[in-house]
Amino acid sequence: MKRVCVLLFSLHALTATAAWQAGVAQADITPTEPVPLAGYGGKTRMSQRVEHPIWLKALALKDDSGATSVLVTADLVGLSDKMVAIIAKAALEKHGIPRERLILNTSHNHSCPVTEDVLWLYYEFTPEEAAVKDRYTAMVYTKYEEVIGAAIANLAPAELAFDQGLAGVAVNRRRSRGPESRAFGGQVDQDVPVIAVKTGKGIKAIVFGYSCHTTALGGLSISGDYAGFAQLELEKSFPGSIAMFVQNCGGDANPLPRIRGKDAEATELASMYGKILAEAVRQTINTKMPPLIGPVHAAMGETELLLQPGIPFEELQQRLPNLSGMPRREFEHFIRQYETLGSLPDRVKYPIQVWRIGPDFQFIALTGETVVDYSLKFKAAYGWNTTWVCGYNNDLTSYIPSLRVLKEGGYEGVTGMFEYGHRAPYTETVEERITTKVEELMKQTK
Ligand SMILES: [Zn+2]
Repeated sequence: MKRVCVLLFSLHALTATAAWQAGVAQADITPTEPVPLAGYGGKTRMSQRVEHPIWLKALALKDDSGATSVLVTADLVGLSDKMVAIIAKAALEKHGIPRERLILNTSHNHSCPVTEDVLWLYYEFTPEEAAVKDRYTAMVYTKYEEVIGAAIANLAPAELAFDQGLAGVAVNRRRSRGPESRAFGGQVDQDVPVIAVKTGKGIKAIVFGYSCHTTALGGLSISGDYAGFAQLELEKSFPGSIAMFVQNCGGDANPLPRIRGKDAEATELASMYGKILAEAVRQTINTKMPPLIGPVHAAMGETELLLQPGIPFEELQQRLPNLSGMPRREFEHFIRQYETLGSLPDRVKYPIQVWRIGPDFQFIALTGETVVDYSLKFKAAYGWNTTWVCGYNNDLTSYIPSLRVLKEGGYEGVTGMFEYGHRAPYTETVEERITTKVEELMKQTK
């Protein structure tokens, strides 16, 4: 009797894992000329060196239902609505990937080129700098299309497994900003979720995530910051593999300590953070990881995040002459909105995706700079060891505070909103609206 049970279990495991086909590909998006660097406001930073290449990487998963789902990761600071629309349209028309089966994550890299209209209020470019940005963006669009196509073309039988390690690189940055902020809690999520994709030849792809800004660096080099170093390190450890970094809910976390103004030392530190993260992934892969079985049930929906009232038109006009730099560009943007739309938009659309993989694993993909509370909340609700929550998908949108962060005030919930072109902070319904939509999508994928 015992022997029969063992046999049945083995057969089940075999049919379950043999059903996957996986394909992985990468496309080099390292700029070939000096470019304006993304992510920080202030004086334009033109790149002077390439520390290591930056990449788009795609994992295509075809399950036994015949559906193909594609995750693309990028060493970019973010995408805009326009960029997402262009990339998704090409993925559908050229490769037949429906929107709900395409997840576009960016590492939030601050050592990459500026693209299209991402964080457009941050920068003031000369016509030449703007032309460089446009040339680079055009290349990035082509590479997205290519990398998705290449991953699909590489589909081959594979086995998937999931588990997570831990790494202590992230520090809650609200707690670390001077004595007045020490009153804030220091919540971080130090889980390092890992999906390993294996074929008969060994590890083919490693998808790993972490909740922490890629801001160990702020100099004039192109690189993938600590996440780029971690990917390089893993590809060295597992020859022939492609390592893909997913930014999770690092809206309020920084890699700390950091060094500013001394590029060589800062780079060494970023490299060390990458090695720590890679070690967490290595240890996870080298233990027995539970298999991840298909199919992928994909759902996508949208909620609206409501904004508090903005500054009246007259007040904007009165205050404008006293402003310069980014605050001036923000006010000009709001005045333009009054003039063209008649009012300031009172809400922001907020897409959410859920991939339920097999009976009990969920990959919840949120939009924008989500703070850590969302990762902790949904893992508590749906299973600490069976749930992966990531932000930084779709349009970079804004910081996405939890109710706690919104009430605490500060950059991530309140003062950072103008930088994204939004009239005011979100209302106190923000977390509830996101939670309700996630719950709805979770039900849809059952
Ligand atoms: Zn950020």
